[in-house]
Amino acid sequence: MERYKIIEEVGDGTFGSVCRAINKLSGEVVAIKKMKKKYYTWEECVNLREVKSLRRMNHPNIVKLKEVIRENNILYFVFEFMEFNLYQLMKDREKLFSEVEIRNWCFQVFQGLAYMHHCGYFHRDLKPENLLVTRDVIKIADFGLAREISSHPPYTEYVSTRWYRAPEILLQSYLYSSKVDMWAMGAIIAELFTLRPLFPGASEADEIYKICNVIGTPTKDSWPDGLNLARAINYQFPQFPGVHLSALIPSASDNAINLITSLCSWDPCKRPTAAEALRHPFFQSCYYVPPSLRPRAAVSRTPPSAVLKGTLEQQSGRRFSAALPNAKLTGSYSTVKTNASLGTGVQRKLDMVNQDLSRNAISLKSSAKQPRYQPPGRKCPFAASIKVDRNGNGASDVADKLANVTIGSRRPYVAESRHSTYKGWGSVDCGV
Ligand code: ADP
Ligand code: MG
Repeated sequence: MERYKIIEEVGDGTFGSVCRAINKLSGEVVAIKKMKKKYYTWEECVNLREVKSLRRMNHPNIVKLKEVIRENNILYFVFEFMEFNLYQLMKDREKLFSEVEIRNWCFQVFQGLAYMHHCGYFHRDLKPENLLVTRDVIKIADFGLAREISSHPPYTEYVSTRWYRAPEILLQSYLYSSKVDMWAMGAIIAELFTLRPLFPGASEADEIYKICNVIGTPTKDSWPDGLNLARAINYQFPQFPGVHLSALIPSASDNAINLITSLCSWDPCKRPTAAEALRHPFFQSCYYVPPSLRPRAAVSRTPPSAVLKGTLEQQSGRRFSAALPNAKLTGSYSTVKTNASLGTGVQRKLDMVNQDLSRNAISLKSSAKQPRYQPPGRKCPFAASIKVDRNGNGASDVADKLANVTIGSRRPYVAESRHSTYKGWGSVDCGV
C-alpha cells in the first residue's frame, strides 16, 4: 500500500470504505476499497465474489479492478477511479436529466449487463449508488453480491437494496435469475427521469405494497408463479389496478415508458434480457458511443454525443475493441498467484490483467448483429422452476412481515430516504 498516496474518502458502503488515491509511481488516480472484514488467508480473498466475478470481466461499462492487495490481514481492492455515482448526480440535480442523457447512460449500462450476463454472472445489487460515472461514461460497480448464474440455488434470502429489489426476491423465491437486474434497471431508469425512487418501500411489506400500487396487483395471467409464491408464504397481495407509468413519469417518451413498463413486469420471464433491451425502440434513434470510447477516426467525424446507427453498425466489430481503455489489457494473461508465501503482513497482489479476450470477442460479435427488438416471450428457463422453500425455511419471517400489510387499504407512507435531503414519492395516488 506504500505505493499509493491516499487523498480522501469518497464512499462508505456496507462492506468497505472507498478512497481516492494516487499511484506514486505512475501518477494514476485510483479508487481503493478497504474491506471492513479482516482476511487471514489468500484463499478467503480469491474466493470472494467481488474478486471471482471481476477478474473474469473486461468491459468498458464494468468498473476495472486493477489489483487486490492483502496487507496486515486487511484486504484492499484497487479500481480505476470514477468521479461520481449516479445517486450523487441525482441528489444534487435541480432540473431533470434530458432523455438523451438518460438514454446514453442506460445504453451503456445495458451493454455492461448484457456482457456480464453473457459471462454467466448477475449483479443482484444494481442501484444508483453502484453505477459510477465519469463525464459521459457510466460503469457498473460493486460486485459484492454478484453470483454465477450456474451456481446452485437456493440463493440467500437477503439480496439487494429494497427499493430496487425484484418481487420474486421479496416473495422469497430461492430460484431467481439475471432478470432481477432487469427489474432494478426499470426502477433506476424511472428514477433517472423523475429524480425520485419509483418504489421507495419503507419495509419489505411496504415495498410490495408500493409495487402493487404502481403496476397493479399481479393476476394469474400476469404472474402465475408469483401467486404460487405468495400462497406458499401465506401472503395476500393488496388489490390495486395500477397506473399508467406515463402519469408518474410525465417527462418520459412513449418508448421510454414502454421499456420501463416491460422491465418492471411482475413475471421475470416477461422482462426483456439486457440484449433485448438494447434492441428496444428507446435506443433506436442513436446508438451512443461516448467520445472516449470511440475509434480514433470516428471521434473527429461524429457529433459529440451520437453516432448514427448505420455508421456504427459498419464499425460495430470495433465498437468494444476500440473501447478497451487500457493498453495493458490487450496482451498479457496472468493468473491469480496463490502459491507463493501467504504470510501475514506480506504485501500480495493479484494481477487483474488476465482477461479472456477471446470470450470478449464472442460477445462483441453477438452484440454487433442485434436483431430488432422483440418483446420478451413467455419461454423462460426459470418459469417452471421458481419455487419457495417447501419446508418453509426462511419464509415465515417474511410471511410475518408481509402479513402486517393491511390489504387494500391506504397506509401512511413512512419515507425511508437514503439521506435526509432525498425524499421518495410518498403514497402513489392511483386516482381511483
Ligand atoms: P459497498 O460494497 O460497500 O457498497 P462499493 O463498491 O459500492 O462498496 O463502494 C461504495 C461507494 O464508493 C460507491 O457508492 C461509490 O460512491 C464509491 N466508489 C466505489 N468504487 C469507486 C470507484 N472505482 N471510483 C470512485 N468511487 C467509487
Ligand atoms: Mg455499493
